[in-house]
Amino acid sequence: MSNAGASSKWSSALPGIHVPEIHDLANRLRFAPQQGRIWLDDQRMMLMHVASLGALRQELIESLGKETARGLITRIGYQAGASDAEMAKKLRSGSSTYDSFLAGPQLVSLEGIVHCEPVALDIDVGKGRYFGDFHLIDCFEAEAHLNSYGIGDEPACWMLVGYACGYTSTFMGRPILWRETECKCTGHSKCRVVGRPAEEWGDDALDDLRFLQIGDFVKFNPTAPDKLPATSRLATLSAAGTDNDFGMVGISSGFSTVCHLVKKVAPTEATVLFLGESGVGKEIFSHNLHRLSNRAKGPFIAVNCASIPEQLIESELFGVERGAFTGATVSRPGRFERAHGGTLFLDEIGTLSFTAQGKLLRALQEGEIERVGDSRIRKVDVRVIAATNVDLRAAVKDGMFREDLFYRLNVFPIRVPPLRDRRDDIPLLMNWFMRRACAKHGKTITGFRERAVDALINYRWPGNVREMENLVERAVILADEGGALDLCHLFTTGEEVTATTFVVQKDGGLQQASDVEEIDFLSGPGGLPTLADTETRMLRMAIAEAKGNLSMAARLLSISRPTLAYRLKKYKIDV
Ligand SMILES: [Zn+2]
Repeated sequence: MSNAGASSKWSSALPGIHVPEIHDLANRLRFAPQQGRIWLDDQRMMLMHVASLGALRQELIESLGKETARGLITRIGYQAGASDAEMAKKLRSGSSTYDSFLAGPQLVSLEGIVHCEPVALDIDVGKGRYFGDFHLIDCFEAEAHLNSYGIGDEPACWMLVGYACGYTSTFMGRPILWRETECKCTGHSKCRVVGRPAEEWGDDALDDLRFLQIGDFVKFNPTAPDKLPATSRLATLSAAGTDNDFGMVGISSGFSTVCHLVKKVAPTEATVLFLGESGVGKEIFSHNLHRLSNRAKGPFIAVNCASIPEQLIESELFGVERGAFTGATVSRPGRFERAHGGTLFLDEIGTLSFTAQGKLLRALQEGEIERVGDSRIRKVDVRVIAATNVDLRAAVKDGMFREDLFYRLNVFPIRVPPLRDRRDDIPLLMNWFMRRACAKHGKTITGFRERAVDALINYRWPGNVREMENLVERAVILADEGGALDLCHLFTTGEEVTATTFVVQKDGGLQQASDVEEIDFLSGPGGLPTLADTETRMLRMAIAEAKGNLSMAARLLSISRPTLAYRLKKYKIDV
């Protein structure tokens, strides 16, 4: 609820800061009751009773315990905040940093969550500087908590704090932590939250980070698998570089799921199969799995099966006996023998020859191998972790991969999602790779320029985490000492820019290239799209939603099938 002093509060608290009108955001809210949909820009929304949410919240606390429930609720907030930051950046792309940032507080008002009043706000994206101090008035969460528990001694607006962390971290391209310093649930007249970069909170931040559960494996203690030491998370967030070489940081549900599965399977002896596109970090997850296993003290041997010529792969994996073939002048052990007592990681397992597949199956089933040119059977104690970016089931159907080996490997498959499906992790990863590259090359970089943050967050990342690592490292090398990373440092070669879904405009701003799945309603130069543009995009969206079924697309748009056909023809849209 806004009061009479609210508007003057904005201006008196922030002299010279103009609070933008909310119309541009409010216009993105569309109700489609005939289809049972509510849209906020391209995100589907839902109206929910605060009382039901309060009941759900209470049930979570009662059934899971306060700590776990708080973590869960905080991370739900983080996810929503990260999505809204992407929307805010898109809808206010031509605005000042402040106007663009203030879309967040305005969006939570629009969404009916809370009314925000800034007390202080200082943002410099390029220099990585952030300080925010906001009053939260009539927060739904405080209301729900008070209804269930009355006034207590701890702040309880967990989802709001999570939202602020997700929104600001995504906006800034670096982890920003928020804390609720005053709360209605502790008897204050309104709630108040303060946010600053994670590392500036110092040790104080550990408690907050515990609830965000930003995952990593640094200094992980396998004897207490559910309790990551908070220090490790802070170390990762503010990683000065080489103390964490495992490239593991994330908060998205996709990332958390993979971490959870890795931790579960690590202490067992099960064979694990990592699935996922190139560059998603399958080897890094495997290495962590090894570190968390009972074999951690043994060797970790990694082999990329695709990088070894087919005629050499068997001797490489299983070893070779002197005289086995021309050139085999000395006997030498293969990777299996070298991994004895430890873990063997076989990447791109789908490229193995049929003979090698047979030998691998035997090694897995019997724990026995034979060197090439040797009939002696050698016992090996090796845990195999395999990875592939191809569909092995299809390879089995095509007769390219042994079915028995497939089932032997597929005991515990873990699918690592591509980076574009775990966008919430992008700000954490950007910051982490930047800091690591700075430490490696002895440079000081303040952060990312705003448009660089926008580009990285919206880029499709065909090469996944590895591509980001390379891109950011190269940018750190190219950028001036003491400066910030900008677009020109990141996207330096023509083919990379064309590979993105973005085009750089004359003014240096980015415009998303047309893409059926990623609809950008406000891409027109004047901020407003033309009617034809909007209509074209609506048509494409409906067809995509209906998966090409024109009758269904027509129903979604509440127009007849012939009208749809006419409009598709008019705008020359091929389906
Ligand atoms: Zn509160």
